[in-house]
Amino acid sequence: MSRRYLIAGNWKMNGSLPANAELLGELALQQERYPGIDMLVCPPSVYLESAGRQLGGNMQLGAQNLSDQTKAGAFTGEVLGAMLAELGCRYVIVGHSERRALYGEDDATVARKFAAAQAAGLVPILCVGETLDEREGGGAETVLARQLGAVLGACGIGAFARAVVAYEPVWAIGTGRTATPEQAQAAHAFLRGQLAAQDAKIGDSTRLLYGGSVKADNASSLLSCGDVDGGLIGGASLKAAEFLAICASAQALSTN
Ligand code: PEP
Repeated sequence: MSRRYLIAGNWKMNGSLPANAELLGELALQQERYPGIDMLVCPPSVYLESAGRQLGGNMQLGAQNLSDQTKAGAFTGEVLGAMLAELGCRYVIVGHSERRALYGEDDATVARKFAAAQAAGLVPILCVGETLDEREGGGAETVLARQLGAVLGACGIGAFARAVVAYEPVWAIGTGRTATPEQAQAAHAFLRGQLAAQDAKIGDSTRLLYGGSVKADNASSLLSCGDVDGGLIGGASLKAAEFLAICASAQALSTN
């Protein structure tokens, strides 16, 4: 089946009202040139409302994190999925390696966040990926199977009909070191196989994004891989020209 490319920008903890307005203004002006793809921006949560007002036609809004709770209450500092949906978010990133490594989110927490996102009507973008030590030790697939398996076990394969998976090798995030297209394709094929083993249709239709130092000059070779359906872009999503060039690569490869 032909899966529509999704090019998602993870702004991380960056931005300011004027800088966001400038960046989003440039993206909104150009987005009509990429009708065959989905464009997504994920600003810090405090900027979601203002960013939502500045989106162009095929641009969508996503959050970077949410609470694992499904009901409002005494959870100081947390943001409920329903609140994100109320601000116009359609997607939310869960299980990013920075949250796993720096904020102690384990597989069980990530699975609860995935479920909480769906309970609020949001599409979770589940990030999985191995560290360099794990790759060099030959354990990359074991890690991917464990991280994906935790969510499959908790939420079931049916939940992946409304989810996106992002393969983000930890050693490639923010390092300038990108997986080769062969490495990305192999990991994506493995992940798709894990899903397809439980449901062939869902395995075929789930969008799998690659993330890790994607830039204008390497986007096309990564996006050309058969099982790569888009990108989760960190640093390069903060520069309009870079992000738009990645969108242009996806559009050029798009059959939509
Ligand atoms: C990310 O944080 O999801 C990411 C892929 O970052 P970068 O593109 O900067 O490596």
